[in-house]
Amino acid sequence: MSLSEIQSRIAKAEAAAGRSPGSTQLIAISKVQPNERVKAVLDQGHRLFGENRVQEAASKWPAFRESYPDTKVHLVGPLQSNKVKQALDLFDAIHTLDRKKLATRIASEVQSRGAAPELFIQVNTGEEPQKAGVPPSEVDAFVATCRGLDLPITGLMCIPPIDETPSLHFALLAKFAERNGLKGLSMGMSADFEEAIALGATHVRVGSAIFGARTPA
Ligand SMILES: *Cc1c(COP(=O)(O)O)cnc(C)c1O
Repeated sequence: MSLSEIQSRIAKAEAAAGRSPGSTQLIAISKVQPNERVKAVLDQGHRLFGENRVQEAASKWPAFRESYPDTKVHLVGPLQSNKVKQALDLFDAIHTLDRKKLATRIASEVQSRGAAPELFIQVNTGEEPQKAGVPPSEVDAFVATCRGLDLPITGLMCIPPIDETPSLHFALLAKFAERNGLKGLSMGMSADFEEAIALGATHVRVGSAIFGARTPA
């Protein structure tokens, strides 16, 4: 698969859902990929990337940003509250806000900087014990908590359980977002981004379908 194929599949999925062209942003998930593959995608003009580890992003993106200054990088993996400063230096968006302590740290950092990243609240739609995210029953209260801290929330994010139909989780996330007046929906990966677009995804996170399989580090 290639970047342009994924872009045309996104365009088709948008059209099929009656959505306007370009209403879905493609986040190219570059975790663990060799730099030459990432550079190839940058050289095709793509400028929106995602990483799941702060350390890895720190070793990769400052240099790429010098050569491709309009690049945006999103954090789609877990964030420890002691790494908030570093994360806000590195990332334009955080998709994994999922607890009060983290929200409080981000809020105080945002206040001292006078600028906020885009923020998505991760929801554990499958209520999986090993997975991060706010449980479904606590989403509304957590959105309110974040708003109480003056954090601008862009939307919600989920990673459905591998063994369940993803659309059910996408639909649930869309329902939570609507009920809370949130427009952003970060959902859909290589295997299911078209279904996510059909259910309103504004951000799809596609890794292996663009870059090829990830070889374990
Ligand atoms: C790795 C990752 C992706 C991309 O997964 P692919 O199946 O390679 O598209 C998307 N979202 C998150 C949170 C990830 O960690």
